[in-house]
Parts: sequence; structure tokens; C-alpha cells
Amino acid sequence: MADKYFPLSKEALEEAARRFSTPFYIYDEKAVRENARRINAAFGVFPAYLNYFAVKAMPNPVMLRLLREEGFGADCSSLTELLLAEMSGLGGESVMFTSNETPSAEYLKARELGAIINLDDFTHIEFVEKTAGLPEMLSIRYNPGPLKLGNAIIGNPVEAKYGFTREQTLEGFALLKKKGVRRFALHTMVASNELNVSYHVETGRLLFDLAVEIRRKTGISLEFVNLGGGAGIPYRPEDTALDYGELAAGLKEAFDRIMVPAGLERTGVRTEWGRAVTGPYGWLVTRAIHRKDIYRSYIGVDASMADLIRPAMYGAYHHISVAGKEDAPAAGLFDVVGSLCENCDKFAVQRPLPAIETDETSGDLLVIHDAGAHGRAMGFNYNGKLRCGELLLRPDGSLVRIRRRETPEDLFATLCCQ
Ligand SMILES: *Cc1c(COP(=O)(O)O)cnc(C)c1O
Repeated sequence: MADKYFPLSKEALEEAARRFSTPFYIYDEKAVRENARRINAAFGVFPAYLNYFAVKAMPNPVMLRLLREEGFGADCSSLTELLLAEMSGLGGESVMFTSNETPSAEYLKARELGAIINLDDFTHIEFVEKTAGLPEMLSIRYNPGPLKLGNAIIGNPVEAKYGFTREQTLEGFALLKKKGVRRFALHTMVASNELNVSYHVETGRLLFDLAVEIRRKTGISLEFVNLGGGAGIPYRPEDTALDYGELAAGLKEAFDRIMVPAGLERTGVRTEWGRAVTGPYGWLVTRAIHRKDIYRSYIGVDASMADLIRPAMYGAYHHISVAGKEDAPAAGLFDVVGSLCENCDKFAVQRPLPAIETDETSGDLLVIHDAGAHGRAMGFNYNGKLRCGELLLRPDGSLVRIRRRETPEDLFATLCCQ
């Protein structure tokens, strides 16, 4: 059972709402830092452990800098994510560039930054060679295909567009070696929001087995294997959080059994976690402004799916608490909705909630939990919706704005109205 906490009292939240006006995201710096330290401590059993934080989960330089201070790197997959990493003081091999269908300009930027390029396809060996030149170090993204069952969000690896097949991976490393590349890494990403420890351990075992085969067939000792992202978080109160210690211990057992006897004890183990790093420590705060009773009862809020699309996109559950009424009994079942002209614009469907006051200035404040990753980042502008801003709760209790809300001028800035 995962506790659903929120770091501000109702009074402090009301004060923040007056100061910054709703809706907004709020992130808890202290909790993120403590979580990063727990991850580093658990995975410290591996040589040169490093988590490349997936920039797409929370593309804000303030967060990237804070995570850099905790020893994390960045996992980028586009030109602008590389630029964000750069403006956060990240570069060189603390950046992993895991892209697909990559244009040459992005490889060039990755090369300029000195990032570790993670090739998504066999043909990109030649493509990178021609367009950006082959670096001294390269990584290959492996797609295990039928060897691994996918999970619900990411789908079945056989149907996934990513990575090299097993044969291509072996051939790819041999070819890279022939072309003069000297340092190598292996990557895979087969899970999304996976809370099952053994699923992640199994992914590790798959990579370790392949690392041994690569060594046998090509003579290459990998510098590290990267297990990708996909560590889950307990979105539902009844979910159980991943036990990092148990996960690292399971991986270490497989590492000692498979890698050590093969002489690969110096190969590092790395990850690309995004969601598990910041997800539980971010919230979308929105005010209840209207109530509507037709065939069902609706609570209308001032945020919309343009601010947080996961419930609409995946039917994802996000816990909602009403500030100051956390322990109040349910007063009925409600759909909590935004104002987009799409019926899927719902943060909750038939959710038991306490009695909620609705008013533009004095309505109850709703806290939508576990929005610290793939939240604001997945926002969009359909229906002319302007995305909300982001606040950071500093360890000293102060609140700082780390992204302002969008304005109509932002939205219209790309129009060419001659
Ligand atoms: C999305 C993604 C991640 C991060 O996934 P999380 O679920 O946030 O941990 C890491 N690596 C790659 C290649 C990704 O596409």
C-alpha cells in the first residue's frame, strides 16, 4: 500500500494558488533528491552505476541540474532534448542519445556534445559514419523480439519499431569493431511502468547473456549494459512501490552468475529511469470551478487533458485528493473533467470523492498525484489550450516558479499572418 502524500498543508496550498493561480504543477525537490540517493545507493553494488534521467519525463533544466548534482546523467532522444541537457550543464558521456529514425542534424549535435550515441538500427552504422563520423564509443539498442514478453504500455517487442534483432546486434558489434570503434555498450528498453521486480531482473539476465555471447563471438568486452527505463511507480493506493534494494540484489545475483565467470566483472550496469525518479514527487493542482449533474455528476476543474493527458491516453489512474478533505467520507461518484471538447478529457471516471465546493476563486483545490513524470511534458495545445506552469518546492519550504504558464502570444508565435 503506497501512501499518497502531498507536501503542503491546505493553507500553504491556498496561498500558493493565490500567488501563482491555478492550475500548476508542483515538484518536491527534497523528495526527488532523496529518491535519487536511494536509487544510487541500491545500484551502487555495480561498477560505475549511472542513471541517465529520461529528459522526456520532465524536460525542465532546473530538474536536470538538480539531478546532475545527485550524480545522474541525461537520456535524450531529440535535438531539443540534447539542447536541454546542454543548458543544464550536462555533456560528454553523462548524456546518452537514444533516438530512432534519427536525422543527421541530431547525430551531429550528439557528436558535438560528446554524448554516447545509442544506435537504433543496423543501417545507422553507415548513416552515422557518413553524416557525423563514427565516435570512439557506440551503443547498440537491442530488441529481444520473441525472447521477451512486453508489458501493457510499451507493447510486445516483436511489434516494436525499436532496436536491432539479436543477429543484427552481434553483426553490428563486429562491424563497428572492424570500422575502428573501440568502446561499446548494449541497451534495451522493454518495459514501461513495470512494478514487478522479476520482470526487470529478467531484462538484466537477457542483456547479461547477450553480453557474454558478444564477448564470445566478437571478442568485445562491453563497457556497460543499459537496462533502459520503465521502472514503475504505485499510481494506485493499493499498488506496492518497487523495492530498489530487492531489484538491485536480483540483478547482482544474475550479474555474478553470468557476467563474472565470463570475465565481464568490470562491465557496468546503467539505467535510463525517468518516471520512477520524479513521478511520485510531482502533482498537478487544479481548482474545482463547476459542478454539473446530468446522467452522471461532474466536477469541472480549471486544468484539462492538455495539462495531463495520461488518463485520457492510457486510461491511466491518477489518485486525486481534495485539499483539507483527505480523510472526509465519499459523497458520491464523480467524473473529474477539463474543458476540452473531447469526452476523454477526464482526470477521473466514476471516482468516489468527498463533497466538493466549486467556485472559480474559492472552490476546493484538487491535487492530482504522481504527475511528476510524463505529466506537463506530454501536454499539448489542441483546442487552443494553454499549458500551465511548474513550481518547485525547495527544501527550505519556499516555492519558485520554474516554468511560467503559456500565453496566447506563445501559441500564436508560430503563425505567419501576412
Ligand atoms: C521513455 C524512455 C525512457 C524512460 O522511461 P520511464 O518509463 O520514464 O522510466 C528511457 N529510455 C527510453 C529509450 C525511453 O524511450
